[in-house]
Amino acid sequence: MLTVNVDLAAHAYPIHIGNHLLDRTELFAPHLMGSTVALITNATIEPLYAARLRSTLAPLGKRLIQIVLPDGEAHKHWETLNFIFTKLLTERADRKTTLIALGGGVVGDITGFAAACYMRGVPFIQVPTTLLAQVDSSVGGKTGINHPLGKNMLGAFHQPQAVIADTAVLRTLPARELAAGLAEIIKAGAIADAVFFDWIETHIDALNRGDETATIEAVRRSCEIKAQVVAADEREQGRRALLNFGHTFGHAIEVGLGYGRWLHGEAVGCGMVMAAALSQQLGLIDSATRTRLKRLIAAAHLPTQAPILGSDRYLDLMRVDKKTEAEQINCILLKRLGEAFVMRVPDHTLRAVLTASTQS
Ligand code: NAD
Ligand code: MG
Repeated sequence: MLTVNVDLAAHAYPIHIGNHLLDRTELFAPHLMGSTVALITNATIEPLYAARLRSTLAPLGKRLIQIVLPDGEAHKHWETLNFIFTKLLTERADRKTTLIALGGGVVGDITGFAAACYMRGVPFIQVPTTLLAQVDSSVGGKTGINHPLGKNMLGAFHQPQAVIADTAVLRTLPARELAAGLAEIIKAGAIADAVFFDWIETHIDALNRGDETATIEAVRRSCEIKAQVVAADEREQGRRALLNFGHTFGHAIEVGLGYGRWLHGEAVGCGMVMAAALSQQLGLIDSATRTRLKRLIAAAHLPTQAPILGSDRYLDLMRVDKKTEAEQINCILLKRLGEAFVMRVPDHTLRAVLTASTQS
């Protein structure tokens, strides 16, 4: 097992990464304060892993409330959150009750938000079960739900007591979901660590196969990078924006095609190829660097060819991304592999890249 320590102003907490951590009572024990635990999961994950986690917790003698949510992003909304509150109140969960999120980013985001709100805040533990959740959504303290008028528009910053990432559970993950997680791993290397980027290139086949050692190492380094960026900028005022590399284009693809057609990680993978093209257009990187990034994304079984939406539509969608300010499009660009920065890019430059990206 490897541990990454997240060091934040308010509190520090560990991310444990390894195989079969779901069975290790001693990893959960230090983080469960009161007499009650609420295990929150979804209908897909419950039959796969909930019984195992329940028996891991059994020796601790806590009263256990289990809450099973319907599966899917479509349920990451107010009604599901209220369903959690109703269940917690009916079962008389108190202020010391620890919520445990067992699932992907959807379960993690909604459980974290429930923990931030319930009785003005209760502790929670993340047990991420998708690669994306292990390397991205469970780290950083952003929690929330969707509103019909916008994704992730309601939420809170609420840090977990611990993240327990059992890489063995990834074996049941569908291949597309695994690739989507790899996109965020590649992103971490591209924006912050050239040596890690090289390492991913060398180990991409092992990662595609779900090789244990390679997966643990990739999760560790990605968490470390995200934790460092977040620790430097907990409330998203500066450096944290770099984590959005590939996301402005990706967001346009996700919304332009209609949510759910491409997975978030697929859109981000293609978005990174587009951001690399833009970086080259601006003379920041050479074509060899751009090709390396594109090859790696293709090797991770992610799309590299941007869907045709039309430049006007792309620009519209990129502008309404909540991460951009009013009439400007701030783009995350590469200075080189391992270093990114934010720059405001004029529309005509973006148009040229959008036209080329949707053709070549
Ligand atoms: P997800 O939670 O929808 O999981 C994907 C699918 O895999 C689901 O059907 C799920 O039931 C299933 N699944 C999960 N674990 C499994 C396993 N071990 N075996 C088999 N099936 C399994 O999707 P996700 O990609 O994990 O998360 C996406 C969500 O995360 C989005 O809502 C996004 O907004 C959010 N997110 C949040 C942050 C953050 O900082 N809070 C960052 C990135 C993404
Ligand atoms: Mg992302």
